[in-house]
Amino acid sequence: MEKDYFKTYPNKEGFFKEYGGSFIPDELQKEMNKINDAYYSISKSHKFISELRSIRKHYQGRPTPVYYCNRLSEKYGGRIYLKREDLNHTGAHKLNHCMGEALLAKYLGKKKLIAETGAGQHGVALATAAAYFGLECEIYMGEVDIAKEHPNVIRMQILGAKVVPVTHGLKTLKEAVDSAFEAYLKDPINSIYCIGSVVGPHPFPMMVRDFQRIVGIEAREQFLEMTGELPDKIVACVGGGSNSIGIFSAFLDDPCELIGVEPGGLGLTLGKHAATACFGKPGLIHGFKCYLLQDEKGNPAPVYSVASGLDYPGVGPEHCMLKDMNRIKYVTISDKECIDAFYELSRMEGIIPALESAHAVAHAIKLAKTNPHSSILVNLSGRGDKDIDFVVDKYGLPK
Ligand SMILES: *Cc1c(COP(=O)(O)O)cnc(C)c1O
Repeated sequence: MEKDYFKTYPNKEGFFKEYGGSFIPDELQKEMNKINDAYYSISKSHKFISELRSIRKHYQGRPTPVYYCNRLSEKYGGRIYLKREDLNHTGAHKLNHCMGEALLAKYLGKKKLIAETGAGQHGVALATAAAYFGLECEIYMGEVDIAKEHPNVIRMQILGAKVVPVTHGLKTLKEAVDSAFEAYLKDPINSIYCIGSVVGPHPFPMMVRDFQRIVGIEAREQFLEMTGELPDKIVACVGGGSNSIGIFSAFLDDPCELIGVEPGGLGLTLGKHAATACFGKPGLIHGFKCYLLQDEKGNPAPVYSVASGLDYPGVGPEHCMLKDMNRIKYVTISDKECIDAFYELSRMEGIIPALESAHAVAHAIKLAKTNPHSSILVNLSGRGDKDIDFVVDKYGLPK
């Protein structure tokens, strides 16, 4: 990669080569410019950085460990390691950027955090951050996801957030983003929009990436200390792309293979999956340019995955650039492979993964079978407690 990669990408307008940018109405652009300016001045200050570091250590429980999977590696070959983001407070990597976004909101004097959520993980993380800083919190969530991720809905409400059901369209993540944007535009002075991944208009893909870089920085150091080498392959699931860019970003200049795992769902025909980097074509969604699963008219296509947190028809602009540069490779894992891996990790290691993360585990198992001498580092983006009722109801326990 170029020297100064992180200062070069994105450029001032928010572009990662041709992807990203900001394609939004003028009134929203004005607000984004303010967030952008604040981000550059505040987030680089010593005060902000030391407060964030203290929160990570004393509140979130960072660094999260890197764990060697004894039994899984023995069974399938290879050496499989997990970066345990499931042990980050609230049970997923999302708190990494939520605490950053909320801290920025505090410095800006905002009173309310607004966001969308898919699986509910971003909503829970943001509601947690809001409680920590004493801010109001409003979370937009598709009705379909509300039904599927009931425990997370309750969690947000316990934390004091208002959960607003989104009832139009497919009633999932994409519609929830639309509704959250609308709500934000109604009161941009007192509120701030906190996106859930490395997507949306500039500066969000950059901000969220920067806040998630801690995952890779820790993992690289921990892996080196544990093994004396770097991992051969690093595997992470890709929804919008935040946990994956978080871990990959520390290894861009290393001779490590970086593999993003997308949801293959029920089959690789349009509508049955959400494998955007694999099968999308450049297009626009939610104010930025990226690979997009689209219909003949160029509108975002319906997408599906067993993992609510992965069913988004777009993908972070930095991923699109790194795909074009052949630095990250993208593959798919089907619902069935995901469920098998969900049970396999639970029973072999005593770790119940989030359905999102189980996609990465499934691919790591595949790689281990064919690469017996490789070390494979998986970003275990979250824990699966939120998914247990759904999985057992729908698929039953394994024989
Ligand atoms: C939201 C979520 C994802 C997907 O989002 P990314 O931005 O692609 O990381 C993955 N894993 C878990 C546990 C999640 O909650």
